[in-house]
Amino acid sequence: MKKSAINLLGIPYDNKSSFLRGSAQAPSIIRQILHNTSSSYVAENGVDIMDDVRLEDLGDLKVQNYLQISHQIKALQKSSPFIFLGGDHSITYQTVIAMNEKHGPFDILVFDAHTDLYDNFQGDRYSHACPFARIMEDNLTGNLIQVGIRTVNAHQWEQAHKYGVEVITMREIDRLSQLSLTNPLYVSIDLDAFDPAFAPGVSHHEPGGLTPREVINFLHKIDVPIIGADIVEYNPTRDHQNITAALAAKLLKELTGIMAAS
Ligand code: MN
Ligand code: MN
Repeated sequence: MKKSAINLLGIPYDNKSSFLRGSAQAPSIIRQILHNTSSSYVAENGVDIMDDVRLEDLGDLKVQNYLQISHQIKALQKSSPFIFLGGDHSITYQTVIAMNEKHGPFDILVFDAHTDLYDNFQGDRYSHACPFARIMEDNLTGNLIQVGIRTVNAHQWEQAHKYGVEVITMREIDRLSQLSLTNPLYVSIDLDAFDPAFAPGVSHHEPGGLTPREVINFLHKIDVPIIGADIVEYNPTRDHQNITAALAAKLLKELTGIMAAS
């Protein structure tokens, strides 16, 4: 089996969090859990992510300036797919800019309790509540599909309609099984998409969310190439017994296995 390469890059940046800081500590803890030998490296599709894949850990980006993140990623000059560990969700605007120059058109699939479509939040257009407004304004994606949404105000619905976002709320989560994907995909996982019972280590607890099983099963059904992914908003200061870090590490393992097989 020819080993496919996947780049792992931490972006320990939480300056754009509106409520609580802490997600900048996430990448190193997720790595610790991934490598702590309590669990094997075999993903559910049988791919050993340390043996069958060349998972290249590029370490953490040293971020000085938010708007430089995309340039720093491009400067790494890697053509193979990336998995990014946030950081807060603001990083996704920057990672998508970087992916857009390397890959052709792609769609974005987001798991999140929130749409993150604010035109600006508390005066900041780059807040972690805004990345998908910036992505849509800049035409960086084909379709934007958001799953797990469960708190949307009138402004956000207006934005969703303006940009043609496909919103699958928790109330109509059954629609997820009918979702068909046709284009290469970027997957963005905000851990607050999960019910806080499974993922307490996030800044914004929003009960009534997804289960890990629902998300993992859906990820394994994706049959289009995944050109990049991120796992964001893990906040260790809110976690219990690293339970959310374990979920993030599990998602990292499964995404790696899926991207290697695709
Ligand atoms: Mn988010
Ligand atoms: Mn969120």
